[in-house]
Amino acid sequence: MENTVGGIKEMKSRLLADFPMLEHIRRFRPREFESLAMTVGRCADYGRRYVLPLALELDKKIKDEHDFFPWDLIRAGTSYKLLSLIIPKIVGGEGGLAVLFSLAMEELCSFCPGVGNIFGAHALGIAPLLVCGSITFWEKVLRKIVEEEKKGNPVLMAAAVTEPSAGTDVEEPNFLRTARLSMNAKKVRGGYILNGRKCFISNGSVAKYTVLCCATDSARPLETWTTFLIDKDMEGFSVPRVEVKMGQRACPAAELLFENCFVPEENVLSFEGMGMQPGTLLLLAASRAPVGAIATGIARGAYEWFLKWANRSRYGTRPVEKQRIQMALADMKTRIQVSRWTYMNAAMSFDLSMGRAMSSPILRSLGFIPQSVRTSGKYLDFFNSIKGKRLSGSILTFYAREDEITRALAYASMAKAVGGDTAVYVTSLALEHLGSEVCEEREWIEKAFRDAKLTQIYEGTNQLNMLTFFNTEIQKSLKIEMKRLKRR
Ligand SMILES: Cc1cc2nc3c(=O)[nH]c(=O)nc-3n(C[C@H](O)[C@H](O)[C@H](O)COP(=O)(O)OP(=O)(O)OC[C@H]3O[C@@H](n4cnc5c(N)ncnc54)[C@H](O)[C@@H]3O)c2cc1C
Repeated sequence: MENTVGGIKEMKSRLLADFPMLEHIRRFRPREFESLAMTVGRCADYGRRYVLPLALELDKKIKDEHDFFPWDLIRAGTSYKLLSLIIPKIVGGEGGLAVLFSLAMEELCSFCPGVGNIFGAHALGIAPLLVCGSITFWEKVLRKIVEEEKKGNPVLMAAAVTEPSAGTDVEEPNFLRTARLSMNAKKVRGGYILNGRKCFISNGSVAKYTVLCCATDSARPLETWTTFLIDKDMEGFSVPRVEVKMGQRACPAAELLFENCFVPEENVLSFEGMGMQPGTLLLLAASRAPVGAIATGIARGAYEWFLKWANRSRYGTRPVEKQRIQMALADMKTRIQVSRWTYMNAAMSFDLSMGRAMSSPILRSLGFIPQSVRTSGKYLDFFNSIKGKRLSGSILTFYAREDEITRALAYASMAKAVGGDTAVYVTSLALEHLGSEVCEEREWIEKAFRDAKLTQIYEGTNQLNMLTFFNTEIQKSLKIEMKRLKRR
């Protein structure tokens, strides 16, 4: 479906059928709805033209050549602006938040979640620059991504939290206190010296910039958890290994090694010690709904291939005529819809509070400042100073209220777990009903089955997501502490 007038109309109808709650946006913010339909239309076009013809071949190729990266495919994505979907408009991006990005993820991942996740992991790297109000990096990093994208050069990002002996433990404040950490940052004059390893980092081997969290004092990890921006060219940084993956193979998961790597003070996002509260928690509130959407896209892809298989006639009959196939299709579609509504609810909830901050008069007014000033040393230095960081922190705190954003984290955790389980359930069901028939649909469904498992693991395992939901929504013992952003 191309972005012609007819195409957009068709996409709008499809979106309203799949997500009745978008009617509210269509009615009261028609331009935003138009932009959602255009973006999903672009993703569909990219998927159909570039991803579909290559996805199976790519999956097989990377099985044997696991560090191969499909640069040509990502380069093709630049003309669809897939790398700037969540970059703020004031630096030339599309200005989307969780709703737009989730819809894009579902669409891309219905074709190939490995390719979709390259864009997903990229956005995971961008999100901390937004939610920590790191305005300096909007100009220094995000503008570069947009400008290079216009020239057809993909500049990718990644986010690195997991360590070899600490996965679940670095995604929850209570667990972080006792986590077995192997990586640390030591304060030195003008910056920090980083030593240690991060593992399983999606896009880690291909990203120009990686946003990384680690402790500056291993004895007090929760209090000193800090977020840094790493440039791949920094001395002391290397990528010793890329994992062999079962699914989502197109997106490399890499180990990152830091050996006396000096990171300048100016590369600290927000302030030292803000890495978990609110940093990582805000990031998870932003990213778990899109991960639910990735999983939904996988389930949808498998469902669509299964439907095609079920409608194909052999020897005068079609599988869809059998009641067990009809029930399986209804079961799959029901779960996909539940998963969709759950992630959309979470995404809307995040956008409600963070969207208010991003479209606040103060942030929008920055767009009226001439670009030459915004990229000048004085402007960048101001927003990197304590005063500037406090100001951006205050804007976020004012518009994104703690109770709202904590609820967004609760819903997002729910959406991630529901999505992951849906992807695994739907792909398994499809595979079971295919029986032993050798056919094209089988190859796609088998791939989706392998791709699905990861959605129960990354962005916090589903078990952890359930704990986050319990702590935020039922026990109410976990809250995102926005106030810390300006208290410093
Ligand atoms: C392909 C891939 C890509 C990834 N991409 C990224 C990335 O881009 N960036 C990044 O930072 N990380 C990434 N990860 C890491 C991912 O987020 C972690 O794997 C995940 O958080 C789980 O951590 P772990 O593997 O150490 O498992 P563990 O934490 O060791 O957990 C093992 C099992 O124990 C359970 N468990 C652990 N603690 C508890 C508890 N307290 N209560 C109940 N159950 C518990 C878990 O649910 C899980 O089932 C990626 C992982 C993979 C496999």
